[in-house]
Amino acid sequence: MNQKSLAGQRAVVTGASSGIGKAIALAFAEAGAAVVVNHHSDAEAGKAVTAEILGKEGRAVSVRGDVSKPRDVQKLFDAADAHFGGVDILVANAGAQADAPFLEMTLEGWRKVIDLDLTGAFLCAQEVAKRFRRQGLEPNRSRALGKVLFVTSVHQRIPWAGHANYAAAKGGVRMLMETMAQELADQKIRVNAIAPGAIKTPINKAAWDTPAAARKLVKLIPYGRIGEVEDVAQSAVWLASDAADYVVGTTLFVDGGMSLYPDFREGG
Ligand code: NAD
Repeated sequence: MNQKSLAGQRAVVTGASSGIGKAIALAFAEAGAAVVVNHHSDAEAGKAVTAEILGKEGRAVSVRGDVSKPRDVQKLFDAADAHFGGVDILVANAGAQADAPFLEMTLEGWRKVIDLDLTGAFLCAQEVAKRFRRQGLEPNRSRALGKVLFVTSVHQRIPWAGHANYAAAKGGVRMLMETMAQELADQKIRVNAIAPGAIKTPINKAAWDTPAAARKLVKLIPYGRIGEVEDVAQSAVWLASDAADYVVGTTLFVDGGMSLYPDFREGG
């Protein structure tokens, strides 16, 4: 039997109208999952992702929502209930940057990133964990009661000058992930993270869209190329699938080696 690895699973992917979230939504659908495609401000883009999935005879619905707002978060999972009868996987992917040198960072800029990247991840994860428990284990669907996958960043580990809010948020999500994993593993809720390195998306366009910028960026990547969204999406499919059933509380770095202190290649 060659069953798709996410057949019968129902996923909510936040920030799925572009970049990494979009690629994860498409890859999940390809792997057999029904997907709630969350978008924030770009409804057309969200609908386009959903249309692409439906066009390939997959199952998807697009739902607007701001993940930093509890009521919007409820709506995402209500949509999963209404359209697919429940949820098995959360990918907490929505995120943004609001960069500034530390001494110039405003409270507004700090809060914007913490509210979205950290508090948004918390709100979605808490809501989905409650719903997993209410639904109960369905062994025909998955060996786990549910799976939570946070999209963090190499900056959950690597300090990043000029991005204190972002690094603090991603470092916070790492500890949120590990604490949740420790607390919920005995209930068969699997919690993990993917930490992308430099992936070509709108969030970091300035870092790769000219040859000079790309050359500078590639110096930080031992594997010698900038990542594609599919690199992250394929890892997410595996981590969410039963093939990774014994993977609990782990961060999978999908970064071409960026977190390996590449400056030390020259001997340090
Ligand atoms: P992106 O800008 O394409 O995606 C971010 C998504 O979040 C967008 O779809 C946006 O609409 C959504 N979003 C913004 N505010 C929202 C809100 N309030 N509620 C719901 N959704 C909201 O960039 P991306 O690179 O695809 O980023 C996705 C995730 O990957 C982010 O968490 C980012 O920090 C992380 N990441 C990206 C890279 C990279 O190199 N691209 C590296 C490490 C981590």
